[in-house]
Amino acid sequence: MKQLLRSPGLNPNHEHRLRCKLERWHLDSPAGTVVRRLLCRLGRLKSLVAPRVQAAVFKTLWNGWCTKARFQQAGACVLSCSTEALDRIEHYAACPFQKSIISWFGLSARFASLPYFLLVADGMTDNDIILLALSVYAMFRATNHHRLNSSLPSHDRVRDFLQQACHDCTIGHPKSRKVLDNATRVRHFHS
Ligand SMILES: [Zn+2]
Repeated sequence: MKQLLRSPGLNPNHEHRLRCKLERWHLDSPAGTVVRRLLCRLGRLKSLVAPRVQAAVFKTLWNGWCTKARFQQAGACVLSCSTEALDRIEHYAACPFQKSIISWFGLSARFASLPYFLLVADGMTDNDIILLALSVYAMFRATNHHRLNSSLPSHDRVRDFLQQACHDCTIGHPKSRKVLDNATRVRHFHS
């Protein structure tokens, strides 16, 4: 992972490894395009968000969340958005709670989808990358937190947690804090 960040695009082996890792997501775009785009963005991410946010992005790309799907089991969304939604990253990328974050950020609804969640969608600006990375961090934290609790969380409680997590991960990181503040200044977080 560190090697990938250190020399984006320079070593063909890194491209190959990344391409293998990304295959599991079954993205529509050509693999080569996605890999080159991602290498470039991961290089930029270092200066855009705090290290804990970068770590959450990598855990997501490498399918490192402790979801039921990762362990070949079936289970419902641990944020309890519905009983049909599955505990898997593909769902969390478009979970109603992720949609709430995207709306709070003032971004188009299409940003609540897997290519944006993985930071590989076409045409993302640095601002988009920062905001999506913050949402990934918040969803990662929230799912970890609520997975450990036996009782189903209320929707208000999940929203409060997500909003707080977005703020917490920008503490001590002025650049991402400024982007978050600018994006959310005129909106309340709601469902
Ligand atoms: Zn959900």
